[in-house]
Amino acid sequence: MISLQSLDMSESARNAIEGQQRYNPAEVEPKWQARWDADQSLYAAEGHDSGKPKFYCLEMLPYPSGQLHMGHVRNYAIGDALARFMWMRGYNVLHPMGWDAFGLPAENAALKNNTPPAEWTLANIASMKRQFRRLGMGFDWTAEVTTCLPDYYRWNQWFFLKMYDRGLAYRKKSKVNWCPECQTVLANEQVIDGRCWRHEDTIVEQRDLTQWFLRITKYADELLTGLDKLDGWPEKVRTMQRNWIGRSEGTLVDFAVDGAPETITVFTTRVDTIFGATSVQLAPEHPVAKSFAACDVALAAQVEEMLAQQKAAREAGDIGAIEKHGVDTGRFAINPFNGELVPIWVANYILADYGTGAIMSVPAHDERDFEFAGKYGLPVRRVIVPKAGTNADEQLPYTAEDDAVLADSGEWTGESCVDAQRKMAAFAAANGFGSATVTYRLKDWGVSRQRYWGTPIPMVYCTNGHAGTEAGGVVPLPESALPVVLPEQIEITQQGGSPLGRVADFVNTTCPVCGGPARRETDTMDTFVDSSWYFYRYTDAKNPVAPFDSAKANYWFPIDQYIGGVEHAILHLIYSRFWTKVMWDLGLIENDEPAARLFTQGMVVKDGAKMSKSKGNVVSPDLMIERYGADATRMYALFAAPPDRDLEWQEDGVAGISRFLSRVHRLTMKYSEIAAQRNQATGSRVDESACAQALLRRLHQTIAKITLDFSGRWHFNTCIAAVMELVNVIVANEAAMDSGEVPAAVVGDVFRNLVLMLAPFAPFLAAELWEAVGGEGAVFRIAWPVADEELTREAEVEIPVQMNGKLVTVIRVPAGSDEATIKAAALADAKVAARLEGKTVVKVIVVPGKLVNIVVR
Ligand SMILES: [Zn+2]
Ligand SMILES: [Zn+2]
Repeated sequence: MISLQSLDMSESARNAIEGQQRYNPAEVEPKWQARWDADQSLYAAEGHDSGKPKFYCLEMLPYPSGQLHMGHVRNYAIGDALARFMWMRGYNVLHPMGWDAFGLPAENAALKNNTPPAEWTLANIASMKRQFRRLGMGFDWTAEVTTCLPDYYRWNQWFFLKMYDRGLAYRKKSKVNWCPECQTVLANEQVIDGRCWRHEDTIVEQRDLTQWFLRITKYADELLTGLDKLDGWPEKVRTMQRNWIGRSEGTLVDFAVDGAPETITVFTTRVDTIFGATSVQLAPEHPVAKSFAACDVALAAQVEEMLAQQKAAREAGDIGAIEKHGVDTGRFAINPFNGELVPIWVANYILADYGTGAIMSVPAHDERDFEFAGKYGLPVRRVIVPKAGTNADEQLPYTAEDDAVLADSGEWTGESCVDAQRKMAAFAAANGFGSATVTYRLKDWGVSRQRYWGTPIPMVYCTNGHAGTEAGGVVPLPESALPVVLPEQIEITQQGGSPLGRVADFVNTTCPVCGGPARRETDTMDTFVDSSWYFYRYTDAKNPVAPFDSAKANYWFPIDQYIGGVEHAILHLIYSRFWTKVMWDLGLIENDEPAARLFTQGMVVKDGAKMSKSKGNVVSPDLMIERYGADATRMYALFAAPPDRDLEWQEDGVAGISRFLSRVHRLTMKYSEIAAQRNQATGSRVDESACAQALLRRLHQTIAKITLDFSGRWHFNTCIAAVMELVNVIVANEAAMDSGEVPAAVVGDVFRNLVLMLAPFAPFLAAELWEAVGGEGAVFRIAWPVADEELTREAEVEIPVQMNGKLVTVIRVPAGSDEATIKAAALADAKVAARLEGKTVVKVIVVPGKLVNIVVR
């Protein structure tokens, strides 16, 4: 790896000697920025009929906080380098940008500064857009999407109505996650270790609220199986999604309550162990537990106690670690497989919202049940044993399924566990007391937020109520009533509840069905709705009559490369896959997955920690640009670490890149006239001087390396290091170039291609130098150089030749020679031939490129 220190020779001294001005990005970069800004078509995607292959290059859109941070710079530098490379490879590239513009910070800022959220947000967008331009990002601003504007969020409302029509949006009262800091409900995905995803120190509470949900669980299986196709996604992201969806196959079995009309349905993944069930355990909130408690004061108190324990455990962030308690209700359930009575318990570790909120407890074959039975002295009955001939493991609990068979299990005794699970589920179904089933960890997506700055939910509550509508007179608005526009002048307070509820003009409306008085829904949508489909809007951002034109989306989708942080592995990346599947069902698109390839870049850290205001280790991109220029800042973000790893920000490194760019500028300017002459090479390149050959070889090796890296792993750090090595070879041959030993054609070739290779990483300098070497048009629209494989080869390599393990001589062969060529060359060598006289060659061992060993007798 090339070291930055090796570049640290005084460029300014050399510039002084050569009478040139030091490269000044503060002058050059704004000059090009102004030229680029003046031409909106420069980075604009072309139509379907461009005749070029398409490439949709997308980085996740930022939240407009007002300031880009270094993590953004890194994310967008990766995407921009790729977009520029693909343009140069002749693709029709869509490289858009937008703003994930709804969200809580705007409301907090409104409180603090008394600025309306819309004003604050739009001002932030303007300032971040300035930063993007200053960084030279090649975005297609004609496709800009701003999610807080009605021309965008009306389509959130439109999708919501479509989902409501299809039963995919529904309202229910349920236990929800409540962040006291956000003063709003959170989706399950937004609760991380019991805390708010926005407020790491805030414990999420549980509340009972009536909320709107999107039925993502309907797509659970599709979301799961779809992952198998996504081989362009990081395996870790696919694994996280699989775990989040959490599919498990099992059986539902109804246990009748002895002496009562109720039934308890348990969910089990091991119905084959049911003859070993020694109790049934209920969640404290289970309706049967509640009904028992209603006529048992002591039990009622204990159930309350357990509910409190669950709440505390949830709030402490780890419900799985709850200390297990239970209470025997004194009642019995009937095991439908053998008619046996088993005691009914209520236990604090059974969750109402997982499975059916009831389990059968089989201590002999389940770790958790074994522990619980031990604590309360419940019987342990073994019904699974190792298959005959395998080693009997007498240790309990015995949880094996493979190579295990049933014992003491009636007619299923002797069956393998796997067969018994299938047969017993079928038996339960045939006899009307159960069925095979699949459950998921994934829950429906709660999208109601008690916040102002979000998309209004397009529903009203008619005070007359309506036959055929839900209780409460829920009436969807017709599409013609869209958009439901957020009122802009609104006082933001911390009173709690939905702020829109205090805006009478907004709340009071008429019912679209009966014309009577109605109230609007005052909750707004989770902002993850906005980012669930924004990338489709980019393909047709100004469409006034539809979310997008299907033909346009079908041309651009799937996204060829999506780039963003791994923190979105569950939230955004699962919601947007769900949204895509819904849109597919609506007939809007032809792809059922949004992104063919996903790349998750590492974080930018400083002094070993993630940059954050509270740690005081934030490095401002603006400051870096001011000191070193935009090219050096973004190129350093690509150079300092492989893009999938964390990057430790070191200002020395940026300074080093800045010196390197200065050197490239000095050299290119020095030879720019020769390069601009565009001399054609004459005759065979092999005839050229050793210096010329060395330059050409390194040039083509560098082209080959970067070209290869752009198609896969994107180790731009080693690409940039390769460009640095090329520049070192140029410096080493400066005298030869000056003396004319290197033909002008070669000098021109080297510098023009050097500039082209810099274009994806340092667009401003590349544009400046491209003009200097007589290049016409935008540098990133010039065809990417093609490596001449012949020229990449090292001319000759030296290979030692041994005879019976002893060195005889060293031969020179063309690099990359095959085994037969090397063997022939070794045997033909004069020294070897002399030693072979009178001997027999037993065999010749050739290690290509390394060694020849001739075994003789
Ligand atoms: Zn919060
Ligand atoms: Zn009505």
